[in-house]
Amino acid sequence: MTTRLSDLPQIQTLLALPAIEKLEEHYSRAETLEALRKVIADLRATLLEGIDCALPDFGSKAFAHKLGHLIEAARKPALGAVINATGIIIHTNLGRAPMAASAVAALQAVAAGSSNLELDLGTGKRGSRHDHVEDLICELTGAQAAVVVNNCAAAVLLSLVATAAGRSVVASRGELIEIGGSYRLPDVIVQSGATLREVGTTNKTRTSDYAQAIDDNTAVLLKSHTSNFKIIGFTAAPTRQELAQLAKDEQVILMEDLGSGVLIDLTPYGMTDEPVVRDILKAGVDLVMFSGDKLLGGPQAGIIAGRSDLIATLKAHPLMRAVRIDKLSLAALEATLRLYRPPHDPMFDIPVLRMISEPAEEVCARATRLASALKDAGVLDVRVEQTIAHVGAGSLPAQELTSFAASVALEGLSPDTLTAALRRNTPPIVGRIERDRVLLDMRTVQAAEVGIIATALQKIANT
Ligand SMILES: *Cc1c(COP(=O)(O)O)cnc(C)c1O
Repeated sequence: MTTRLSDLPQIQTLLALPAIEKLEEHYSRAETLEALRKVIADLRATLLEGIDCALPDFGSKAFAHKLGHLIEAARKPALGAVINATGIIIHTNLGRAPMAASAVAALQAVAAGSSNLELDLGTGKRGSRHDHVEDLICELTGAQAAVVVNNCAAAVLLSLVATAAGRSVVASRGELIEIGGSYRLPDVIVQSGATLREVGTTNKTRTSDYAQAIDDNTAVLLKSHTSNFKIIGFTAAPTRQELAQLAKDEQVILMEDLGSGVLIDLTPYGMTDEPVVRDILKAGVDLVMFSGDKLLGGPQAGIIAGRSDLIATLKAHPLMRAVRIDKLSLAALEATLRLYRPPHDPMFDIPVLRMISEPAEEVCARATRLASALKDAGVLDVRVEQTIAHVGAGSLPAQELTSFAASVALEGLSPDTLTAALRRNTPPIVGRIERDRVLLDMRTVQAAEVGIIATALQKIANT
């Protein structure tokens, strides 16, 4: 017997069936309707492809049960935690920096009730949300003053609007970056109401180029950290000290869009291209802007640190309100910054820094543990492979971290199908494909997640 399109029942008829009516009491009418529409649409698509299929018994308990499953699946939150097995530590698509436990606890405490966000507990009078982290940032960076906003893009925009709107900003052609997600520095400068004066060339810019571009209308010399690409060969750029001297002589402001922003020297871990915020300010940069959730390892935030008169101008600017940080991020940021002080060890207590600095043998031990857990899962072909992990989020693109992965192949399943199945797990697991095998890179996987990955792979292998 062939099923025809005209055999498909009306949705209204299905809604009147007792088993489905019962389902509707348990869930909502809208959800039941959506599930029914999906089932009918799928059947219609199958029939239109010329594939014959028997229709289910729409009035049966089994069919109602199937609808229930569909509704439950649709009820899963759209945004949720995943396991990052990509080997990219600060993964833009996976929410960038994972936060430390104490940051999560601080965030939770503030989220669940009221807080002294803008109350001075000493005087009982109105306080400022900016006060909670300013001293800490100054202590950790040597800045005179600091203020925190929603993210680094907002930090750059606010800094330019408040100091350079209607005037000109001088920047090197070699530093007019795009960092992805449609953040292009030249566009941000235009949005701030300032005019961009490009100087130098892609590979070489000298202090004299900046000097020649400065006129009465110049407000800012803007440096930016070219964190996501590298120009090698015939290159030149002035030092920060040289630019700082020029800015001082000409009475203009020297700013740096730093992007990632590290508070401690990472050269012992082989990372030589990432300048420390304290050194940048010491070199004479007036304002530096950096992210809270890149190498700092905290929540999304944009930190502006530097000269106190300029920070006061930013705090008083009308745009400040539109870009201010929210209380949850602020709580998490304060807790993260505290981990940079003794007795804490930021290289261990901050997940991003721990993932960067963890010895390769320990990463390898996790890969081995996962591989051994899967030894008995017959059809799975698992081995431990040495890999290269990256910091990510445009930070240190050339930096390669030795890592180890469990490399998995499953008979009869393409790598694409296997990664798709892993993404459907609860929680979803995100790996990568290399040379027709699925790699689960252990540098970004936390110890407690190894067992979850093993169970997921076993389940996939057994179905
Ligand atoms: C990442 C980055 C930004 C933007 O930071 P967000 O926190 O994502 O807004 C700005 N400038 C540079 C140089 C960056 O690397």
